[in-house]
Amino acid sequence: MSIDERVGGGPESRAWFERAKRVTPGGVDSPVRAFGAVGGTPLVIREARGATIVDVDGREYLDFVGSWGPLILGHAHPKVVEAVEAALKRGTSYGAPCVPEIELAEEVVASYPGLEQVRFVSSGTEAVMSAIRLARAATGRDLIVKFSGCYHGHADALLVAAGSGLVTFGQPSSAGVPKDFAALTRVAPLDEISTLERLFDADGDRIACVVIEGVPANNGLLVQRKAFLEALRALCDRHGALLILDEVITGFRLGPGGAAERYGITPDLATFGKVIGGGMPVGAFGGRRELMRLLAPEGGVYQAGTLSGNPIAMTAGLATLRILRAEDGWRRLEALSDALAERIEPVLAKSPVPATLVRMGSIFWIAWFASEPPRSAESLDPRTSAVYAQVFHALLERRVALAPSAFEVGFLSLAHEHADLDRFADALAGALSSIENV
Ligand SMILES: *Cc1c(COP(=O)(O)O)cnc(C)c1O
Repeated sequence: MSIDERVGGGPESRAWFERAKRVTPGGVDSPVRAFGAVGGTPLVIREARGATIVDVDGREYLDFVGSWGPLILGHAHPKVVEAVEAALKRGTSYGAPCVPEIELAEEVVASYPGLEQVRFVSSGTEAVMSAIRLARAATGRDLIVKFSGCYHGHADALLVAAGSGLVTFGQPSSAGVPKDFAALTRVAPLDEISTLERLFDADGDRIACVVIEGVPANNGLLVQRKAFLEALRALCDRHGALLILDEVITGFRLGPGGAAERYGITPDLATFGKVIGGGMPVGAFGGRRELMRLLAPEGGVYQAGTLSGNPIAMTAGLATLRILRAEDGWRRLEALSDALAERIEPVLAKSPVPATLVRMGSIFWIAWFASEPPRSAESLDPRTSAVYAQVFHALLERRVALAPSAFEVGFLSLAHEHADLDRFADALAGALSSIENV
């Protein structure tokens, strides 16, 4: 299939998307949704339930995007919907403390290593932006360190060689970010302890914090070695810098203690989003009380939000976490991931292009032209996007939806059943047999 033949959505999706493009830049409110990396027209979605999304043409797809991570129970889980409906009738926002906000904070604090206090915001971007401001205030330093291949939202300080959509679109950073801001951010490659050591040797006493994704999952799934994270933790301690673990994807997805629990690493600050909002707009950041008390109104670090701790969003998040606990969710997701590997690995073994399934809990990704899981952005094969675009559209024709970018991961949910995994494996086998010109 040539690029021009790539279709994506049907006639209704195409008509709606034409309307969207007139009134919204690129027709979308978040760039990767526009199918720029794979070609064709996005599906305009009408509804979703369980593991299925339905577009405005009435076509049903088996969904592994899960709204990019939040929907760990699947779409429109009946108990989440019921809790949200009940909450809606009690009002949509109060701008004052409310019970679900306090209960969700207690749940997060009780679950996550080293966390004593948490503050809710409305997106992952806001969470990381606020955590960095807090780290700078706590240390009295300005420099921050991030890793190439990690994405932390679109705050100015972090749009410096970031991952996700930016890598896909070949932009190392964003227009509109002042050079002077970007100069305060150092970008290091993942998986290289020696580079980090040199960075700290040179500037250690000016570094406020290092921010890293719990498991880097925005530029492929770049699972890090425990030794790398331990070295990072030790370097931060030696130089008085704070370690911020960005658990926006991994928090409450890998388990109640996120990547911190998996790796046995306790960060100074952690950021959350996605799963803790149960599909509503939520972020959060937290840490030890001694750090968190620096925030207004107790301390001098200003941070606020009209809809922060919103009762509907808090209710959706709380319902999601309670169901995960009550239904042994994380263990079941691990088992589902094993079942996925059993089905997908034999299919990839026969792929005309070498491909490796990478997974961590219920997060999965296919590394193209790779014989083992890559650990850094620099090690990804430049032919990846071209192959993926073909596989993506061939899967879409078979009514299986992966993310419209080679570097976005897939998500399993408790709504996925073994039959869905069989269907995925069959569709993938068919898709791989159709790829050409590689
Ligand atoms: C999605 C994501 C963010 C940004 O969250 P938004 O809610 O999209 O602002 C930050 N960090 C990581 C690791 C993410 O995956």
